[in-house]
Amino acid sequence: MKTTISIGLALSVVGATVLAQTVPNTVDAHVAAAKAAAGSEHTNTFNSLCMATEERASSNPAPRANATPPPPPDRAKWHVEPMKVFDNLYYLGQSEYSAWAVTTSAGIIVIDTLFDYSVEDEIVNGLTKLGLDPKNIKYVIVSHAHSDHEGGARLLQDRFGAHVLMSQADWDLTARITQSWPKPRKDMVVTDGQKLTLGDTTLTMYLTPGHTPGTISTIIPVRDNGRPHVAAEWGGTGFNFTVSPDKPRRYWYETYAASADHFRDAVKKAGADVLIANHPEQDGAKAKLAALATRKEGAPNPYVIGNDSVVRYVTMVGECARASLLRFSAATK
Ligand SMILES: [Zn+2]
Repeated sequence: MKTTISIGLALSVVGATVLAQTVPNTVDAHVAAAKAAAGSEHTNTFNSLCMATEERASSNPAPRANATPPPPPDRAKWHVEPMKVFDNLYYLGQSEYSAWAVTTSAGIIVIDTLFDYSVEDEIVNGLTKLGLDPKNIKYVIVSHAHSDHEGGARLLQDRFGAHVLMSQADWDLTARITQSWPKPRKDMVVTDGQKLTLGDTTLTMYLTPGHTPGTISTIIPVRDNGRPHVAAEWGGTGFNFTVSPDKPRRYWYETYAASADHFRDAVKKAGADVLIANHPEQDGAKAKLAALATRKEGAPNPYVIGNDSVVRYVTMVGECARASLLRFSAATK
């Protein structure tokens, strides 16, 4: 057993070294590497992340202190019905934001909580519609402290006594946010590689800073008609960084790229063959959920894409960060 593990580690180190050596450090080379890694499956994320102009990538409107919150958008524009995706994994998202429920022998783990205006409709009522009891939510993993993923956490904490998990860096970020949505009370702090076991199920969380200072990416064991698979979620994708004098934009691109390398190794090691995301455009949720709705018995699950494809997805986001760093450096010389 020990031998197998050390061989696996050695191989992934060699793989990373080879990749780093074979991609010349130019914008074009990193974009080409990202495009190759994206293949035909991951073109949406490639286009939004790698082809963005620097102005788009750097648009980061600072939240206005004590601003009056805008009224919630019209429900007809965002509501989506919940759906079972694996035996133990459920989609609870809205049209442009995803949340997930992992069911275990001892309760439910929710990953991401949408906005304060949609948590009740999509997560609480969504679970009920699926025949699951929201009172059984034991843990809530918030991938990162932005209102589209953290906004519903307080309700789940208050109403069901669920434990909220975030990294220390994103708890700190939460404390600094001045927008008026309800923040969760500080609860459990996630460290890199930490496991969360509930009943028969163990998730592994990795700290992948970049999108936010403490973004969490997660590995989740799932089953499809009893057959085991492993899902991976890259916890934060866009380059809409919060920059500061001590942590300028360059720092965040570099941090993001290093985190992608880190999670890519975890995805390889875990043999993750399913990609899920917290925005539907990133994992192709709209097409996949539609395909699941009409899936014939014995037909493949559209979410199972193979380990090579999941590894390429994470490789792509890292290469896009490297390309964007060089673009940014050239533009600000
Ligand atoms: Zn975000």
